[in-house]
Amino acid sequence: MALRDGRVFEVYSRGVPPDAGQAGRRVWFYRDITERKNLEARLRRALEEQDAIFNSAGEGIAFLRGERFMRTNKRFAALFGYGSEELERLAPAALFADATGYDEFKQVADGAMREAGSYTGEHRMRRRSGGVFWCRLSGTTLERNAPTGGTIWVLADVTRRRLADRRMSRLLADLERSNAELQQFAYVASHDLQEPLRMVSSYLGLIEKRYGDRLDHTALEFIGFAIDGAHRMQNLINDLLEYSRVGTRGKPLTPTDAGAVLGAALENLQIAVQDSGATVHCGPMPHVLADEGQLLRLFQNLIGNALKYHRPGVAPEVRVTAQQVDGLWRFSVSDNGIGIEPQYYDRVFMIFQRLHTRQEYSGTGIGLAICKKIVERHRGRIWVESEPGVGSTFLFTLQPSDATLGDDGDADEHQDEAVETAGAV
Ligand code: ADP
Repeated sequence: MALRDGRVFEVYSRGVPPDAGQAGRRVWFYRDITERKNLEARLRRALEEQDAIFNSAGEGIAFLRGERFMRTNKRFAALFGYGSEELERLAPAALFADATGYDEFKQVADGAMREAGSYTGEHRMRRRSGGVFWCRLSGTTLERNAPTGGTIWVLADVTRRRLADRRMSRLLADLERSNAELQQFAYVASHDLQEPLRMVSSYLGLIEKRYGDRLDHTALEFIGFAIDGAHRMQNLINDLLEYSRVGTRGKPLTPTDAGAVLGAALENLQIAVQDSGATVHCGPMPHVLADEGQLLRLFQNLIGNALKYHRPGVAPEVRVTAQQVDGLWRFSVSDNGIGIEPQYYDRVFMIFQRLHTRQEYSGTGIGLAICKKIVERHRGRIWVESEPGVGSTFLFTLQPSDATLGDDGDADEHQDEAVETAGAV
């Protein structure tokens, strides 16, 4: 019964025993229950909201007491293909792929629940249709040390992720194997190929020496070509070996004075600097985390190229600088040489890729590939900026001397190496 002002009344009546002459007399009782009705409505709304949240969760949620499902959300039912009433009659063991799997789960989960009050693990489960899938189960006891208090379980299908993980480990194993094979190949290339090559060039030399006076000019010229070819092949094999050794023979990265290493590189290049009439300007150099021998190789290759690829008739001018950018040291080696067209910016760092013939400029095309491998082993990056006909700037980054590369340095290093080597061959 409601009044005009919105108040709700509970009304009941009771018949009063009739007095003489007053048949059917009743007494009406009124009680104001507005408050109770409001509370009931709020409670209903709260329960509906809770239900909506429970059922819209992306993960399966179940409340278990003992071995009985007391409540499950829609996602949980969908995950297994059962209706929620069916689940209420189902034993949890029926959701596992097999009895052994369930026993194992019980053993570890019960132990963890007793000790920590919660458990997370991945198990093979079975759908109503018979399909088996991997599930991550996270459970929490509602009353610690009292299994009868019930447990909340949150479940997610992790089959895809596990498949991706398995594929990743297989790929990694393949990569490690192929890396080992490539290292073996480098050894074979250096050792076994060098030996017959030495025989070819030494016997060609012998023919020239012993029978030269009996051969005509053309035959001698052919022998000269063959010896030249054998020498070039020897150089290529040596370069390939040096490239493969960046990863395998590298020393640990330690705090290194880049200025001292740059000085040593310039000393090694002294003759080339003099011959080309070059001027070399060096800015202040920092201390960095590096393998000293490899940093020397890096400076030497880049400055050597800056001297080599100069414009005809223009004396090379080389500038070496370093500046700190985003916590790393960024080095630059710039020249006033022939420059590089933008479409070759990536190609010049590839193994045996050259933009010129041997007649134009000497070289085998491995110097910059070695630079790239060295910089990447140091967790840095190398790239080139250039204006054809004006000059080029090679830039690379190195870690400051107080950087920590983490304990996984070695593992990552082998991985990088495998990717690089596999990509290169
Ligand atoms: P190489 O010098 O033996 O050919 P690199 O790997 O050192 O091998 O260089 C690859 C190519 O990149 C070179 O053949 C050249 O065309 C180009 N290059 C390298 N450094 C420079 C430079 N400073 N200026 C112009 N071109 C360069």
